Amino acid sequence: MQISQRISTLSESLTIAITAKAKQLREAGVDVISFSAGEPDFDTPQIVKDAVMAAMNKGCAKYTPVPGTNEVLKAVATKLERDNNLKYATSQIITTVGAKHALFNLFQAVLNPGDEVIIPSPYWVSYPEMVKYSGGVSVFVEADDKSGFKITAEQIEKAITPRTKILSLNHPTNPTGAVYTKAELEAIAEVLKGTDIIISSDEMYEKLVFDGEFVSAASISDDMYARTVTINGLSKCGAMPGWRFGYMAIPDESLAKAIKRLQSQSTSNISSLVQAGAVPVLLGEADADIAMMKAEFLKRRNRAVELINKIDGLSVSSPAGAFYLFVNCKDIEPDSMKFCDAMLEKAQVATVPGVGFGMDGYFRMSFATDMNSIETGIARIAEFVRGY
Ligand code: PMP
Ligand code: GLU
Repeated sequence: MQISQRISTLSESLTIAITAKAKQLREAGVDVISFSAGEPDFDTPQIVKDAVMAAMNKGCAKYTPVPGTNEVLKAVATKLERDNNLKYATSQIITTVGAKHALFNLFQAVLNPGDEVIIPSPYWVSYPEMVKYSGGVSVFVEADDKSGFKITAEQIEKAITPRTKILSLNHPTNPTGAVYTKAELEAIAEVLKGTDIIISSDEMYEKLVFDGEFVSAASISDDMYARTVTINGLSKCGAMPGWRFGYMAIPDESLAKAIKRLQSQSTSNISSLVQAGAVPVLLGEADADIAMMKAEFLKRRNRAVELINKIDGLSVSSPAGAFYLFVNCKDIEPDSMKFCDAMLEKAQVATVPGVGFGMDGYFRMSFATDMNSIETGIARIAEFVRGY
Protein backbone atom coordinates (compact mmCIF):
# COMPACT_ATOMS: atom_id res chain seq x y z
CA MET A 1 0.00 0.00 0.00
CA GLN A 2 1.15 3.53 -0.72
CA ILE A 3 1.96 5.68 2.26
CA SER A 4 1.68 9.46 2.12
CA GLN A 5 4.64 11.65 1.19
CA ARG A 6 4.19 13.37 4.52
CA ILE A 7 4.84 10.23 6.49
CA SER A 8 7.46 8.69 4.23
CA THR A 9 10.10 11.12 5.53
CA LEU A 10 9.19 10.58 9.17
CA SER A 11 11.78 8.62 11.21
CA GLU A 12 10.97 6.27 14.03
CA SER A 13 11.84 7.57 17.50
CA LEU A 14 15.42 6.42 18.13
CA THR A 15 14.98 6.34 21.91
CA ILE A 16 11.95 4.10 21.58
CA ALA A 17 13.61 1.91 18.94
CA ILE A 18 16.73 1.26 21.05
CA THR A 19 14.72 0.66 24.21
CA ALA A 20 12.59 -1.87 22.33
CA LYS A 21 15.70 -3.57 20.93
CA ALA A 22 17.23 -3.87 24.42
CA LYS A 23 13.97 -5.38 25.74
CA GLN A 24 13.84 -7.85 22.85
CA LEU A 25 17.42 -8.98 23.46
CA ARG A 26 16.69 -9.42 27.14
CA GLU A 27 13.59 -11.49 26.37
CA ALA A 28 15.75 -13.63 24.08
CA GLY A 29 17.99 -14.40 27.05
CA VAL A 30 20.82 -11.91 26.39
CA ASP A 31 22.05 -10.27 29.59
CA VAL A 32 21.58 -6.67 28.45
CA ILE A 33 21.92 -3.71 30.78
CA SER A 34 19.78 -0.94 29.41
CA PHE A 35 20.63 2.70 29.94
CA SER A 36 18.48 3.63 26.96
CA ALA A 37 15.03 4.09 28.39
CA GLY A 38 13.88 7.50 29.43
CA GLU A 39 11.57 6.07 32.04
CA PRO A 40 11.77 5.75 35.81
CA ASP A 41 12.28 2.23 37.14
CA PHE A 42 9.97 2.99 40.09
CA ASP A 43 6.40 1.77 40.27
CA THR A 44 3.52 4.24 40.06
CA PRO A 45 2.59 5.66 43.51
CA GLN A 46 -0.06 3.61 45.36
CA ILE A 47 -2.34 6.64 45.66
CA VAL A 48 -2.71 6.66 41.85
CA LYS A 49 -3.71 3.02 41.78
CA ASP A 50 -6.23 3.61 44.57
CA ALA A 51 -7.75 6.57 42.73
CA VAL A 52 -8.13 4.52 39.55
CA MET A 53 -9.72 1.60 41.41
CA ALA A 54 -12.18 3.97 43.05
CA ALA A 55 -13.01 5.55 39.68
CA MET A 56 -13.51 2.13 38.12
CA ASN A 57 -15.82 1.03 40.89
CA LYS A 58 -17.83 4.23 40.53
CA GLY A 59 -18.41 3.42 36.86
CA CYS A 60 -16.10 5.74 35.03
CA ALA A 61 -16.79 4.36 31.57
CA LYS A 62 -18.24 7.26 29.62
CA TYR A 63 -16.52 9.72 27.32
CA THR A 64 -15.37 12.82 29.14
CA PRO A 65 -15.17 16.30 27.62
CA VAL A 66 -12.31 16.42 25.06
CA PRO A 67 -9.87 18.46 27.21
CA GLY A 68 -10.64 16.39 30.34
CA THR A 69 -13.03 16.26 33.29
CA ASN A 70 -13.59 19.39 35.28
CA GLU A 71 -11.89 17.63 38.17
CA VAL A 72 -8.66 16.93 36.34
CA LEU A 73 -8.57 20.37 34.69
CA LYS A 74 -8.99 21.99 38.10
CA ALA A 75 -6.23 19.76 39.48
CA VAL A 76 -3.85 20.85 36.67
CA ALA A 77 -4.72 24.51 37.35
CA THR A 78 -4.04 23.99 41.07
CA LYS A 79 -0.70 22.35 40.32
CA LEU A 80 0.40 25.12 37.96
CA GLU A 81 -0.49 27.78 40.49
CA ARG A 82 1.11 25.98 43.43
CA ASP A 83 4.34 24.82 41.78
CA ASN A 84 4.85 27.32 38.99
CA ASN A 85 3.09 30.47 40.11
CA LEU A 86 0.98 30.37 36.93
CA LYS A 87 -2.74 31.08 36.84
CA TYR A 88 -4.89 29.43 34.19
CA ALA A 89 -8.63 29.01 33.86
CA THR A 90 -9.74 25.44 33.22
CA SER A 91 -10.73 26.52 29.68
CA GLN A 92 -7.02 27.12 28.96
CA ILE A 93 -5.97 23.57 29.87
CA ILE A 94 -6.09 20.40 27.78
CA THR A 95 -5.06 16.93 28.94
CA THR A 96 -3.27 14.83 26.35
CA VAL A 97 -1.94 11.33 25.69
CA GLY A 98 1.41 12.14 27.26
CA ALA A 99 3.34 15.34 26.70
CA LYS A 100 4.28 14.05 23.27
CA HIS A 101 0.68 14.46 22.17
CA ALA A 102 0.58 18.00 23.60
CA LEU A 103 3.67 18.95 21.56
CA PHE A 104 2.22 17.32 18.46
CA ASN A 105 -1.07 19.22 18.96
CA LEU A 106 0.80 22.50 19.28
CA PHE A 107 2.97 22.05 16.17
CA GLN A 108 -0.03 20.90 14.14
CA ALA A 109 -2.15 23.80 15.31
CA VAL A 110 0.23 26.68 14.68
CA LEU A 111 2.69 25.79 11.91
CA ASN A 112 2.13 26.73 8.29
CA PRO A 113 4.43 25.30 5.58
CA GLY A 114 7.89 26.83 5.89
CA ASP A 115 7.37 28.28 9.38
CA GLU A 116 10.52 28.04 11.45
CA VAL A 117 10.95 26.50 14.88
CA ILE A 118 14.10 27.36 16.80
CA ILE A 119 15.36 24.25 18.59
CA PRO A 120 18.29 24.32 20.99
CA SER A 121 20.62 21.44 20.20
CA PRO A 122 21.23 18.83 21.56
CA TYR A 123 17.48 18.28 21.57
CA TRP A 124 15.03 15.56 22.42
CA VAL A 125 14.71 13.27 19.38
CA SER A 126 11.05 13.93 18.60
CA TYR A 127 11.06 17.71 18.15
CA PRO A 128 12.47 17.96 14.61
CA GLU A 129 10.37 15.04 13.41
CA MET A 130 7.16 16.55 14.75
CA VAL A 131 8.06 19.93 13.26
CA LYS A 132 8.75 18.34 9.87
CA TYR A 133 5.50 16.37 9.98
CA SER A 134 3.64 19.61 10.69
CA GLY A 135 5.20 21.33 7.65
CA GLY A 136 7.64 23.41 9.66
CA VAL A 137 11.40 23.82 9.38
CA SER A 138 13.72 23.26 12.34
CA VAL A 139 16.41 25.87 12.95
CA PHE A 140 19.01 24.44 15.31
CA VAL A 141 20.93 26.57 17.74
CA GLU A 142 23.86 24.69 19.15
CA ALA A 143 24.98 24.50 22.76
CA ASP A 144 28.09 22.65 23.88
CA ASP A 145 29.62 21.39 27.08
CA LYS A 146 31.52 24.67 27.56
CA SER A 147 28.20 26.51 27.88
CA GLY A 148 26.77 23.78 30.12
CA PHE A 149 24.68 22.75 27.10
CA LYS A 150 22.63 25.92 27.34
CA ILE A 151 22.03 28.30 24.48
CA THR A 152 22.13 32.04 25.06
CA ALA A 153 19.68 34.83 24.35
CA GLU A 154 22.17 36.23 21.80
CA GLN A 155 22.18 32.96 19.89
CA ILE A 156 18.38 33.02 19.79
CA GLU A 157 18.38 36.61 18.61
CA LYS A 158 20.66 35.69 15.70
CA ALA A 159 18.46 32.74 14.73
CA ILE A 160 15.21 34.74 14.58
CA THR A 161 13.89 35.48 11.08
CA PRO A 162 10.52 36.79 9.86
CA ARG A 163 9.47 33.10 9.53
CA THR A 164 10.17 32.19 13.16
CA LYS A 165 6.96 30.90 14.70
CA ILE A 166 8.06 28.91 17.74
CA LEU A 167 10.99 28.80 20.13
CA SER A 168 11.15 25.31 21.59
CA LEU A 169 12.45 25.30 25.16
CA ASN A 170 12.93 22.20 27.25
CA HIS A 171 14.46 22.26 30.69
CA PRO A 172 15.65 20.28 32.57
CA THR A 173 16.84 19.26 29.15
CA ASN A 174 16.70 15.81 27.63
CA PRO A 175 19.46 14.63 26.88
CA THR A 176 21.87 16.91 28.79
CA GLY A 177 20.08 17.71 32.07
CA ALA A 178 20.75 21.45 31.61
CA VAL A 179 18.61 23.75 33.77
CA TYR A 180 18.17 27.42 32.83
CA THR A 181 18.36 30.02 35.59
CA LYS A 182 15.79 32.77 36.05
CA ALA A 183 18.33 35.31 34.75
CA GLU A 184 18.94 33.26 31.61
CA LEU A 185 15.21 33.01 30.95
CA GLU A 186 14.85 36.75 31.56
CA ALA A 187 17.51 37.41 28.93
CA ILE A 188 15.61 35.18 26.49
CA ALA A 189 12.40 37.06 27.36
CA GLU A 190 14.12 40.32 26.48
CA VAL A 191 15.03 39.25 22.93
CA LEU A 192 11.52 37.97 22.27
CA LYS A 193 9.83 41.22 23.32
CA GLY A 194 7.99 42.83 20.42
CA THR A 195 7.88 39.59 18.39
CA ASP A 196 4.92 37.22 18.12
CA ILE A 197 7.04 34.12 18.67
CA ILE A 198 5.34 31.37 20.65
CA ILE A 199 7.37 29.48 23.25
CA SER A 200 6.78 25.80 23.60
CA SER A 201 7.99 25.13 27.15
CA ASP A 202 8.46 21.41 27.76
CA GLU A 203 8.75 21.00 31.53
CA MET A 204 8.64 17.21 31.76
CA TYR A 205 11.54 16.89 34.19
CA GLU A 206 10.54 19.84 36.37
CA LYS A 207 10.59 17.92 39.66
CA LEU A 208 14.00 16.44 38.96
CA VAL A 209 16.27 19.41 39.53
CA PHE A 210 19.29 18.52 41.69
CA ASP A 211 21.29 21.75 41.45
CA GLY A 212 19.56 25.13 41.39
CA GLU A 213 15.83 25.59 41.12
CA PHE A 214 13.28 25.17 38.40
CA VAL A 215 11.67 28.24 36.84
CA SER A 216 8.80 28.03 34.34
CA ALA A 217 9.29 30.14 31.22
CA ALA A 218 5.74 31.50 31.46
CA SER A 219 6.36 32.78 35.01
CA ILE A 220 9.08 35.23 33.95
CA SER A 221 6.77 38.11 32.98
CA ASP A 222 3.31 38.92 31.61
CA ASP A 223 4.84 39.06 28.13
CA MET A 224 6.31 35.56 28.58
CA TYR A 225 3.04 34.24 30.00
CA ALA A 226 1.17 35.51 26.95
CA ARG A 227 3.53 33.80 24.47
CA THR A 228 4.21 30.50 26.27
CA VAL A 229 2.40 27.20 25.97
CA THR A 230 3.41 25.20 29.04
CA ILE A 231 3.66 21.47 28.49
CA ASN A 232 4.10 18.84 31.15
CA GLY A 233 3.02 15.36 32.17
CA LEU A 234 3.46 12.59 34.69
CA SER A 235 5.60 10.09 32.75
CA LYS A 236 8.84 11.09 34.42
CA CYS A 237 8.07 12.85 37.68
CA GLY A 238 5.03 10.71 38.52
CA ALA A 239 6.68 7.44 37.41
CA MET A 240 3.74 6.88 35.04
CA PRO A 241 5.18 6.65 31.49
CA GLY A 242 2.84 3.90 30.34
CA TRP A 243 -0.26 5.65 31.66
CA ARG A 244 0.11 8.41 29.07
CA PHE A 245 -0.89 11.52 30.96
CA GLY A 246 0.21 14.90 29.68
CA TYR A 247 -1.24 18.38 29.57
CA MET A 248 -0.84 21.76 28.00
CA ALA A 249 -1.72 25.21 29.34
CA ILE A 250 -2.46 27.72 26.62
CA PRO A 251 -2.69 31.45 27.28
CA ASP A 252 -4.59 32.26 24.10
CA GLU A 253 -8.27 31.23 24.03
CA SER A 254 -8.44 30.92 20.25
CA LEU A 255 -5.40 28.61 20.14
CA ALA A 256 -6.89 26.57 22.99
CA LYS A 257 -10.14 26.25 21.04
CA ALA A 258 -8.28 25.27 17.86
CA ILE A 259 -6.41 22.49 19.69
CA LYS A 260 -9.64 21.23 21.25
CA ARG A 261 -11.11 21.03 17.73
CA LEU A 262 -8.07 19.08 16.54
CA GLN A 263 -8.25 16.72 19.49
CA SER A 264 -12.01 16.27 19.05
CA GLN A 265 -11.23 14.86 15.59
CA SER A 266 -8.30 12.68 16.65
CA THR A 267 -8.06 11.12 20.12
CA SER A 268 -11.05 12.77 21.86
CA ASN A 269 -10.55 12.66 25.61
CA ILE A 270 -7.64 10.72 27.10
CA SER A 271 -8.60 7.67 29.16
CA SER A 272 -11.09 8.59 31.85
CA LEU A 273 -9.29 6.27 34.28
CA VAL A 274 -5.93 7.90 33.65
CA GLN A 275 -7.49 11.30 34.32
CA ALA A 276 -8.79 10.01 37.67
CA GLY A 277 -5.37 8.55 38.53
CA ALA A 278 -3.57 11.80 37.74
CA VAL A 279 -5.65 13.95 40.11
CA PRO A 280 -3.95 13.03 43.42
CA VAL A 281 -0.47 13.48 41.92
CA LEU A 282 -1.41 16.92 40.57
CA LEU A 283 -2.84 17.86 43.96
CA GLY A 284 0.48 17.06 45.62
CA GLU A 285 -0.64 13.87 47.33
CA ALA A 286 2.25 11.87 45.88
CA ASP A 287 4.90 14.44 46.82
CA ALA A 288 6.57 12.08 49.30
CA ASP A 289 6.91 9.41 46.59
CA ILE A 290 8.36 11.99 44.20
CA ALA A 291 10.84 13.20 46.84
CA MET A 292 11.92 9.61 47.48
CA MET A 293 12.53 9.01 43.75
CA LYS A 294 14.42 12.27 43.40
CA ALA A 295 16.72 11.43 46.33
CA GLU A 296 17.44 8.06 44.75
CA PHE A 297 18.11 9.60 41.33
CA LEU A 298 20.54 12.04 42.94
CA LYS A 299 22.59 9.21 44.50
CA ARG A 300 22.66 7.41 41.17
CA ARG A 301 23.64 10.55 39.27
CA ASN A 302 26.58 11.18 41.58
CA ARG A 303 27.80 7.58 41.38
CA ALA A 304 27.37 7.34 37.59
CA VAL A 305 29.21 10.63 36.97
CA GLU A 306 32.05 9.53 39.23
CA LEU A 307 32.41 6.14 37.53
CA ILE A 308 32.16 7.45 33.96
CA ASN A 309 34.80 10.11 34.61
CA LYS A 310 37.22 7.42 35.79
CA ILE A 311 37.17 5.88 32.31
CA ASP A 312 40.04 7.09 30.14
CA GLY A 313 38.63 8.69 27.00
CA LEU A 314 35.12 9.38 28.32
CA SER A 315 34.00 12.48 30.16
CA VAL A 316 30.75 13.89 31.45
CA SER A 317 29.72 16.94 33.41
CA SER A 318 27.24 16.46 36.20
CA PRO A 319 23.70 17.17 34.91
CA ALA A 320 21.74 19.66 37.04
CA GLY A 321 18.46 17.89 36.34
CA ALA A 322 16.54 15.05 34.61
CA PHE A 323 17.98 11.52 34.69
CA TYR A 324 20.44 11.37 31.82
CA LEU A 325 24.20 11.65 31.37
CA PHE A 326 25.33 13.00 28.00
CA VAL A 327 28.77 11.43 27.77
CA ASN A 328 31.55 12.73 25.53
CA CYS A 329 33.18 9.85 23.61
CA LYS A 330 34.76 11.92 20.82
CA ASP A 331 38.33 10.94 21.67
CA ILE A 332 37.52 7.27 21.32
CA GLU A 333 34.94 7.32 18.54
CA PRO A 334 33.35 10.40 17.01
CA ASP A 335 30.72 8.27 15.24
CA SER A 336 28.24 7.78 18.09
CA MET A 337 26.01 5.36 16.17
CA LYS A 338 28.98 3.07 15.52
CA PHE A 339 30.11 3.39 19.13
CA CYS A 340 26.70 2.59 20.65
CA ASP A 341 26.05 -0.28 18.23
CA ALA A 342 29.42 -1.85 19.11
CA MET A 343 28.79 -1.29 22.83
CA LEU A 344 25.45 -3.09 22.63
CA GLU A 345 26.90 -5.94 20.63
CA LYS A 346 30.17 -6.46 22.52
CA ALA A 347 29.37 -5.28 26.05
CA GLN A 348 25.60 -5.80 26.07
CA VAL A 349 25.02 -2.26 27.27
CA ALA A 350 22.29 -0.22 25.57
CA THR A 351 22.75 3.56 25.27
CA VAL A 352 21.45 6.13 22.76
CA PRO A 353 23.84 7.70 20.21
CA GLY A 354 24.22 11.47 20.47
CA VAL A 355 23.59 11.84 16.76
CA GLY A 356 19.90 11.16 17.46
CA PHE A 357 19.86 14.26 19.64
CA GLY A 358 21.70 16.29 17.01
CA MET A 359 25.21 15.90 18.44
CA ASP A 360 27.64 13.25 17.32
CA GLY A 361 30.59 12.24 19.51
CA TYR A 362 28.36 11.76 22.56
CA PHE A 363 26.03 9.12 23.88
CA ARG A 364 23.12 9.37 26.30
CA MET A 365 22.75 7.04 29.24
CA SER A 366 19.77 7.11 31.54
CA PHE A 367 20.43 6.61 35.24
CA ALA A 368 16.78 5.81 35.92
CA THR A 369 17.80 2.28 36.76
CA ASP A 370 18.96 0.54 39.93
CA MET A 371 22.42 1.18 41.42
CA ASN A 372 23.61 -2.36 40.80
CA SER A 373 22.87 -2.07 37.07
CA ILE A 374 24.59 1.31 37.01
CA GLU A 375 27.75 -0.07 38.59
CA THR A 376 27.81 -3.29 36.57
CA GLY A 377 26.90 -1.52 33.34
CA ILE A 378 29.58 1.14 33.71
CA ALA A 379 32.17 -1.54 34.55
CA ARG A 380 31.24 -3.18 31.24
CA ILE A 381 31.54 0.17 29.46
CA ALA A 382 35.01 0.63 30.98
CA GLU A 383 36.14 -2.75 29.72
CA PHE A 384 34.62 -2.11 26.30
CA VAL A 385 36.42 1.25 26.03
CA ARG A 386 39.75 -0.32 27.04
CA GLY A 387 39.45 -2.79 24.20
CA TYR A 388 38.13 -0.31 21.59
N1 PMP B 1 9.51 15.82 26.31
C1 PMP B 1 10.68 15.32 26.72
C2 PMP B 1 11.83 16.24 26.86
C3 PMP B 1 10.82 13.96 26.98
O1 PMP B 1 11.99 13.47 27.36
C4 PMP B 1 9.70 13.13 26.82
C5 PMP B 1 9.90 11.67 27.07
N2 PMP B 1 9.19 10.80 26.44
C6 PMP B 1 8.49 13.72 26.41
C7 PMP B 1 8.43 15.05 26.16
C8 PMP B 1 7.24 12.94 26.19
O2 PMP B 1 6.79 12.37 27.34
P1 PMP B 1 5.39 11.64 27.44
O3 PMP B 1 4.78 11.64 26.09
O4 PMP B 1 5.71 10.28 27.94
O5 PMP B 1 4.60 12.43 28.41
N1 GLU C 1 11.40 10.57 26.32
C1 GLU C 1 11.96 9.29 26.61
C2 GLU C 1 13.37 9.21 26.07
O1 GLU C 1 13.90 10.21 25.64
C3 GLU C 1 11.07 8.15 26.22
C4 GLU C 1 11.09 7.69 24.79
C5 GLU C 1 10.49 8.69 23.87
O2 GLU C 1 9.30 8.99 24.02
O3 GLU C 1 11.22 9.15 23.02
O4 GLU C 1 13.96 8.18 26.14
